[in-house]
Amino acid sequence: YGSLAGLVQRNPAFSTLNNEDIRYFEGILGDKNVIQDEEKLIAANTDWLHKYKGSSKLLLQPRSTQEVSQILKYCNSRCLAVVPQGGNTGLVGGSVPVFDEVIISLSSINNIISFDKVSGILVCEAGCILENLTTFLDNEGFIMPLDLGAKGSCQIGGNVSTNAGGLRLLRYGSLHGNILGIEAVLADGTVLNMLKTLRKDNTGYDLKHLFIGSEGSLGIVTKVSILTPPKLSSMNVAFLACKDYASCQKLLQEAKRKLGEILSAFEFLDSQSMNLVLNHLEGTRNPFPTSIHNFYVLIETTGSDESSDQQKLESLLLRSLENELISDGVLAQDINQASSFWRLREGISEALTRAGAVYKYDLSIPVEMMYNLIEEMRVRLGDAATVLGFGHLGDGNLHLNISAPQYDDKILAQIEPFVYEWTSKHNGSVSAEHGLGLMKANEIFYSKTRETVQVMASIKNLLDPHHILNPYKVLPHSLSS
Ligand code: FAD
Repeated sequence: YGSLAGLVQRNPAFSTLNNEDIRYFEGILGDKNVIQDEEKLIAANTDWLHKYKGSSKLLLQPRSTQEVSQILKYCNSRCLAVVPQGGNTGLVGGSVPVFDEVIISLSSINNIISFDKVSGILVCEAGCILENLTTFLDNEGFIMPLDLGAKGSCQIGGNVSTNAGGLRLLRYGSLHGNILGIEAVLADGTVLNMLKTLRKDNTGYDLKHLFIGSEGSLGIVTKVSILTPPKLSSMNVAFLACKDYASCQKLLQEAKRKLGEILSAFEFLDSQSMNLVLNHLEGTRNPFPTSIHNFYVLIETTGSDESSDQQKLESLLLRSLENELISDGVLAQDINQASSFWRLREGISEALTRAGAVYKYDLSIPVEMMYNLIEEMRVRLGDAATVLGFGHLGDGNLHLNISAPQYDDKILAQIEPFVYEWTSKHNGSVSAEHGLGLMKANEIFYSKTRETVQVMASIKNLLDPHHILNPYKVLPHSLSS
């Protein structure tokens, strides 16, 4: 298992780097931003999961849109393939090279350009780290409309390029709604300035949406403008236990109805996920140490009236205990306890990497049948692996993760294509929020029709005729390289 490079052929139309290329890049970027150092290259060639490894010999660190434009113009004319890289936290092998593609890191393009306190519109460069933007906005009394476990490393440009969902989508919607403008550089170096800061702008095709979620296959995002909500004064977190999946679903319906506009997150994890976190992450503690539960739900509310918000949540808990929707529940008494509850949910990915090999599937499935897949998978795999179910229940997004001592082709054969066929049969999506990357490029037809994929390929041909941008990713390999 590991790299999928064996399944893909290097596109013979791509050139290989020579000394003249290096001299050209040094001429525009300076020596220190043209990186050939082996250790730095190993890190940039390896993805977060240590599952995909490229063999690029060159990492470029441009400092401005203009430099990105010069790099791409040159690479396009030489037919040198490139991979745009943000924080390298992607989970589908999209952010690292498959072969020897030149890595273009956005890390040094990381300035905040402007913030308008009246409208809440932030304009910044693509390499800004999500957590740094959150801290900046916190001082201004605002929050980012998205939050995810990788916030300490992922960049806003990477978030936009993957159309990251995360923990606040339930409340603030997807980046297709929150991103108001984008500046992007096309494969031939053309800078597309669509950096508007308007809520409403119906002047023809809204091309920025092409760059939201296209995983670096159509252009390099260099700047974004984003609508940010005000930071509200009261936040409450409850951690609840449910006896079965049906109760989790009913609780979701109740929470939507009874908490209404203050509901800001509804996450779930099963007991297998909980045990994994407790076993592998130091400092984690089961909020219900004396009893065993099958499912756990984390509910967060954010609102503007401390006492009424808390009262709403408390009465939901009370009623849910009375009618046995939950078997136990605890309301965080302070910010530390709230963080410790969040750690149980957000720490699952980290705990999984410590437990051994992990097969990750990020699926949209109608909520009522989501957990059937986990149960069927457990029957298929028996003792060979541990099957975990957790995710953004409020968004119909299941993370099916399978933990095994090491990668094993026999286990993989039990999982795929079954997982994709099952998802497709139930009108789901094989990628809810992580994207397709290298891992799922060939699985696109489980979620999109042939005609749709053909139009996508035509757009790719128009914007990147030599297919130098992130080859072998997103589109099926027969169409992308
Ligand atoms: P990278 O990983 O560097 O790149 C991702 C893709 O975008 C690649 O295809 C890359 O080529 C492209 N790209 C990056 N920057 C640019 C740019 N400026 N222009 C063009 N293309 C670019 N994802 C979610 O959606 N929701 C979650 O809740 C979530 N939780 C996570 C938790 C953990 C612990 C981890 C490790 C990951 C999680 N992810 C989640 C996945 C990942 O963090 C997101 O996909 C994130 O948006 C990637 O950002 P990045 O800067 O790390 O991009």
